[in-house]
Amino acid sequence: MASQDPVNPSHATFNLFVQAQTCKDVKHHFAALCRQLDINPKDFSCFYVTLKERLNYWKAKALWTKLDKRAAHPDYKQGKACIKNKCLVLGAGPCGLRTAIELSLLGAQVVVLEKRESFSRNNVLHLWPFTICDLCGLGAKKFYGRFCTGSLDHICIRQLQLVLLKVSLLLGVEVHTGVEFQGLIEPTGDNGWMAKLQPGSHPAATFQFDVFISAGGGRFVPDGFKHKELRGKLAIGITTNFINRHTAAEAQVAEISGVARIYNQKFFQELLTETDIDLENIVYYKDDTHYFVMTAKKKSLLKKGVIKQDYSNAEELLAPANVDHEALYRYAHDAAYFSTGGKLPDLQFAQNHAGQPDVAMFDFTCMQRAEHASLVRERRGKKLLMCLVGDCLVEPFWPLGTGVARGFLASFDTAWMVRSWGMGVPHLNVLAERESIYQLLSQTTPENTSKNYAGYSIDPKTRYKRVNLSSIQTNQVQHLYDVDKSN
Ligand code: FAD
Repeated sequence: MASQDPVNPSHATFNLFVQAQTCKDVKHHFAALCRQLDINPKDFSCFYVTLKERLNYWKAKALWTKLDKRAAHPDYKQGKACIKNKCLVLGAGPCGLRTAIELSLLGAQVVVLEKRESFSRNNVLHLWPFTICDLCGLGAKKFYGRFCTGSLDHICIRQLQLVLLKVSLLLGVEVHTGVEFQGLIEPTGDNGWMAKLQPGSHPAATFQFDVFISAGGGRFVPDGFKHKELRGKLAIGITTNFINRHTAAEAQVAEISGVARIYNQKFFQELLTETDIDLENIVYYKDDTHYFVMTAKKKSLLKKGVIKQDYSNAEELLAPANVDHEALYRYAHDAAYFSTGGKLPDLQFAQNHAGQPDVAMFDFTCMQRAEHASLVRERRGKKLLMCLVGDCLVEPFWPLGTGVARGFLASFDTAWMVRSWGMGVPHLNVLAERESIYQLLSQTTPENTSKNYAGYSIDPKTRYKRVNLSSIQTNQVQHLYDVDKSN
């Protein structure tokens, strides 16, 4: 902390930056660090190098070693592969930030826009082994000491965003919060592609770019992309978070990494008999909070008065007016209490962003998947590469915990695509290769992807065991090139 090194104020500020626990504090300490070291964060191309030169502090050096190792990968061509590219990333969720990091390592100028002012999601993400290895390589443990200690393989969304935000800033990515993307503005006169923002006077509104990454989450579909709906049988998810006081008693309680009904019929039968709660599955992770995610049967939600009236349409069924929140809190509490054998001593709800008990009910009946991952739009001779990553590419079914793993795979694939774009590969080839790789994404599992995690890079061949980069031909992606023929 500051008292450990009173001699140099920038060392103390660096410590505050590393330890900051809110988005606001991260940005505040980062700005202070830049002022103290007299570095302009807008000088993206030399920001990281200058920072390293000026912050001569052992704690920072340990981090530089990690980041330097990553940056030295030949894929990035010494940060020159995309030196002429300007990328706008929509969304500072885990996948938007992870993509931004890769783009900046490729040498591109990267601007991230996030409509929220704070990172407040307590919910916990399951991490596949490669994501743990990847995040350790970015210095996650330096920012968050508890990161995946022992056999832990999860992290809360908020902490993951904080880690990735810090790495992004150190690498020269511009991250703006409290600004909403409202659409693309086509080139006019000398201007290239720009974004319509709210507030309209925001400085990022003048940023001109040739790559647009949409990482806006679940239902965010940018103009030009089509989504397929994957409709399954009715699936109602409930997430809840309880305060973790990190006591010895709490430490004793075992996590439940996925009790699916078919594997443990006895457990679910007892739960039903004793509490009238009927679940398909339940997961419990001990993280910053005690986090539970479960899939509940409609009949039991109706019986327990959580859902007031039965509707066949999931939207009407889960509409706020049809949900008794007090009953939902009791349902989530009792399921958590029972499934941990009553051993979590004092189950007190953590608060969500609105200061309410952190319990939410979601509809998983209908999942969205983009029909294609990319397209190129050309207006007035100016081309724009558009790519989807994260939940807006493929929406995950949370209890399976595939979201962030497949999200990161798509982030790397997207960075690989931007690399080809930056290196002048013809746009139809860029699109055909990206769509070839995208075909694999929904089938990926920890088992069928490479186990050589240390060898993972943005090159798809390092990650997918069998990948055919030309399974889709250029003549099959003509429709993904949208050109204004009158110009
Ligand atoms: P997100 O994390 O959703 O990030 C998208 C970001 O884009 C958000 O920060 C959003 O504010 C921003 N954004 C959207 N539109 C705009 C705009 N127009 N302008 C500027 N910014 C914009 N997964 C699990 O495995 N378990 C869970 O319990 C779980 N709970 C979740 C709870 C919520 C409320 C949400 C939204 C998602 C949850 N997920 C959960 C999904 C998980 O968070 C994602 O799989 C993971 O975060 C990767 O998502 P992403 O980066 O693609 O999108």
